[in-house]
Amino acid sequence: MKIAICIKQVPDSWAEKKMAAGVLDRANVDAVLNDLDEYAVEEGLRIVEANSPTKEAGEGSGHSITLISMGPERATEAIRKALSMGADDAILISDAALAGSDALSTSLVLAEVIKKGNYDLVICGTESTDARMSVVPAMIAERLNWAQLTFAGKVKVDPAAASVEIERVTEFGNQVMNAKFPVVLSVVEKINEPRYPSFKGIMAAKKKVITTMSLSDTGLAATAVGASAAWSAVKDALPRPARGAGVKLTDEGSGGEKLFDFLVEKRLA
Ligand SMILES: Cc1cc2nc3c(=O)[nH]c(=O)nc-3n(C[C@H](O)[C@H](O)[C@H](O)COP(=O)(O)OP(=O)(O)OC[C@H]3O[C@@H](n4cnc5c(N)ncnc54)[C@H](O)[C@@H]3O)c2cc1C
Repeated sequence: MKIAICIKQVPDSWAEKKMAAGVLDRANVDAVLNDLDEYAVEEGLRIVEANSPTKEAGEGSGHSITLISMGPERATEAIRKALSMGADDAILISDAALAGSDALSTSLVLAEVIKKGNYDLVICGTESTDARMSVVPAMIAERLNWAQLTFAGKVKVDPAAASVEIERVTEFGNQVMNAKFPVVLSVVEKINEPRYPSFKGIMAAKKKVITTMSLSDTGLAATAVGASAAWSAVKDALPRPARGAGVKLTDEGSGGEKLFDFLVEKRLA
């Protein structure tokens, strides 16, 4: 199997974030591998390990895992972390013309790169913790005209049958769905417990190849990506107002009623 895993570097969830020129200021804040993409990496490794004669990912497994990320040069830090978990190599698409890309452009670029790789399976997280649109996996599948199995809480891959079966987590219960390769899969948080990179993994990751592609390497025109091609624009952004003192309810026998009235007033009941 040839597996690609889409990973994104995002601002640290705990860092204070600021807006700059209508978009999130990502340059001046600590950056990490998107938490939810760690589950995608772990799932890819588990799929390989379950189907490898050596029960290990990497050389000799008969399968390969390539990480794909679009972002600035420093996204290599997040990529190294995922490589140290056990992925084989990586592609970083980095170009000044990509700055300000929206979900449509992001999926366009990722799909274009995926097309060139002849992959059987593409695995994504369900959402990034910075933009939280949760649309990129579905958009990639649509652009490639591949099957999409999204929000997977359980995954079973049968390489001999070239098929994937998932339990899709929905508000109403779990749906069992399956599809033949090639498939775009997105996995939910807590599908697994992502492994910590071992010392051996960290050392090995230093030697793994990260291929950097520019926009022209993808074959896409600068007019198809970036802020000028975005279908959405941030019109305004205001800092969150400071938290008020709150309301104190004193229970003098009618606390329950007061609480109920409060909830009704706030449209919470
Ligand atoms: C007007 C506008 C300007 C913007 N400008 C910028 C900008 O300058 N810089 C910027 O970083 N963002 C920018 N964004 C946000 C950017 O559009 C989103 O990051 C992008 O659309 C992906 O959406 P998401 O991050 O919510 O992904 P989701 O759909 O929530 O992500 C789901 C999964 O898709 C995969 N994925 C998503 N993005 C990537 C990626 N880049 N590489 C690899 N895999 C990925 C991951 O597996 C992830 O778990 C801008 C958005 C708008 C509307």
